[in-house]
Amino acid sequence: MSVLQHHYQRVLQAIRAAEAAAGRELGSVCPVAVGKTFPAEDIREVYAAGQRDFGENYIQEWYGKTEALADLPDIVWHIIGDVQSNKTKFVAERAHWLHTVSRLKTVQRISAQRPPQMPPLQVCIEVNIAADPAKHGVAPEEAVALAVAAAGLPNITVRGLMCVAEAEAGEAALRQQFTRMQMLLADLNAAGVPADVLSMGMSADMEEAVRCGATHVRIGRAIFGARDYAR
Ligand SMILES: *Cc1c(COP(=O)(O)O)cnc(C)c1O
Repeated sequence: MSVLQHHYQRVLQAIRAAEAAAGRELGSVCPVAVGKTFPAEDIREVYAAGQRDFGENYIQEWYGKTEALADLPDIVWHIIGDVQSNKTKFVAERAHWLHTVSRLKTVQRISAQRPPQMPPLQVCIEVNIAADPAKHGVAPEEAVALAVAAAGLPNITVRGLMCVAEAEAGEAALRQQFTRMQMLLADLNAAGVPADVLSMGMSADMEEAVRCGATHVRIGRAIFGARDYAR
């Protein structure tokens, strides 16, 4: 087993332990392995260990990886970074999930550009849960309206909500933010959108997110190691 595969197994164990601690069904949390800044070969290694869901932030970097890994037919690509309007076509044509919808205009473009033979793009509305001006996402009060509008688009399926919690938040603040997300998902359901996904929790705050109902945790460093953005 390689070092990456060993890290990966440890992450899987930590997720299973968090599920058990929260009294949740084992396997109810889907890990998304976040490979930004790491080469396609690293992704191939984690894929070989059984992982299928992979997350990427930077469209150009990701696009290169889709080419390098085109021989892995069942890989599931999750876009978890901001998508500029000149890059929507790549997402429409190659992604399975987009976790970071925060503008109706962008998701409208993607719906229009989605090839008709492809299944609808699964999307989450990104919520700026800590009201951090440096972060993307809509204010919590705006999430339901955007989700309802996006759910009306032909090639889009609204699956739920995504957030990045405050980086240095203590346990109480984290729990408050993640619990608010859980309540927003209930609001979304009450508004008639049958969404079931909470994409929240990263390497540092995954346990708390699972306790608060996360269905998808996005794990980078704990699998791939420390990132060097200069690469
Ligand atoms: C990079 C990134 C992650 C993974 O973070 P780690 O701390 O490396 O686990 C998750 N979500 C988003 C939106 C990211 O940009």
